[in-house]
Amino acid sequence: MSALKTVRGLVEAGLVKEESGLDAVAEKYAISITPAVLALIDPNDPNDPIARQYVPAPEELVTTAEERADPIGDLTHSPVEGIVHRYPDRVLLKAVHVCPVYCRFCFRREMVGPQGLGTLTAGELDAAIAYIAAHEEIWEVILTGGDPLVLSPRRLHVIMEKLAGIAHVKVVRFHTRVPVVEPERIDAEMVEALTASGKTTYLAVHANHPRELTALARTGFDLLIAGGVVLISQSVLLAGVNDDAETLAALMRGFVENRIRPYYLHHPDLAPGTGHFRVSIEDGQRLVTALRGRISGLCQPTYVLDIPGGHGKADIGAAALVGSDGCFTVRDWQGGEHAYPPVGD
Ligand SMILES: *Cc1c(COP(=O)(O)O)cnc(C)c1O
Ligand code: SF4
Repeated sequence: MSALKTVRGLVEAGLVKEESGLDAVAEKYAISITPAVLALIDPNDPNDPIARQYVPAPEELVTTAEERADPIGDLTHSPVEGIVHRYPDRVLLKAVHVCPVYCRFCFRREMVGPQGLGTLTAGELDAAIAYIAAHEEIWEVILTGGDPLVLSPRRLHVIMEKLAGIAHVKVVRFHTRVPVVEPERIDAEMVEALTASGKTTYLAVHANHPRELTALARTGFDLLIAGGVVLISQSVLLAGVNDDAETLAALMRGFVENRIRPYYLHHPDLAPGTGHFRVSIEDGQRLVTALRGRISGLCQPTYVLDIPGGHGKADIGAAALVGSDGCFTVRDWQGGEHAYPPVGD
């Protein structure tokens, strides 16, 4: 079985009733639903949180005034093709702009997919590696895209061997949805390729709903961990998918139970046609504050906003603490407010 990539295929699979308006969506934004994702969708639930992430919706044709094609400003910090260098000590290496699935809320939706920026040529890849080699301040290389794990182990191996030769790079990090949406790709050969640089290797697993952490995904996580890869999580706060404390708590606990340390919970970016996924920052802050008391400290993600225009990420969960002149108000996990330093008692 292969991935569903057309509106017709979605209709035949019973995921959408009619082609109503979706052809226009499909023309703008790529569709792909893998067999593993399809198996997770309950077609009888009109509000299925898995379907909502991957099945196109007519709302995607609505672009609001604040939305932009490059919501986090990747293009403003790209010195050579495939590299984004925003922070001194780390770069993104985007070797490929293809993904196993196309998430409807994707912050890079204008760059990924068949109409997207494609895959680096051998020459472009060499230039990107040369850039990393020439900048001794680069301590970490983050492979993202697209999804770097759509590349074959053989091609990943080639990239890792090139990084192996750069002494100042100490850490290699992958950001990927593959272990969740195409778990069969994680085998011994893939793990060998991912770790072939000999560097300390991290892998951020992108999942947004606890149901995505299946037994098959777990098999892949276990292989990665056994191969020496450190797993961290990455999720996006999404209306109708995970914007309630119970679901978020189950997701974060699911990560920890799978030996994945919660890392980032992203506030949704201002990507075109994603307004129906957006949650207010106030609601996001209430949710992460509620998590504090509800679940173990091991399960706490950092709530971050990628500031539009390429200004980098900011921790926006910290508003549990507001104040000035040395006097603060701290909000506890049940919403109670307390002065710090305490007054009167
Ligand atoms: C998100 C991002 C990183 C990684 O940031 P961390 O806070 O280290 O996870 C690096 N470079 C760019 C351009 C990014 O957008
Ligand atoms: S896998 Fe990542 S880059 Fe690809 S469509 Fe989903 S969110 Fe976007």
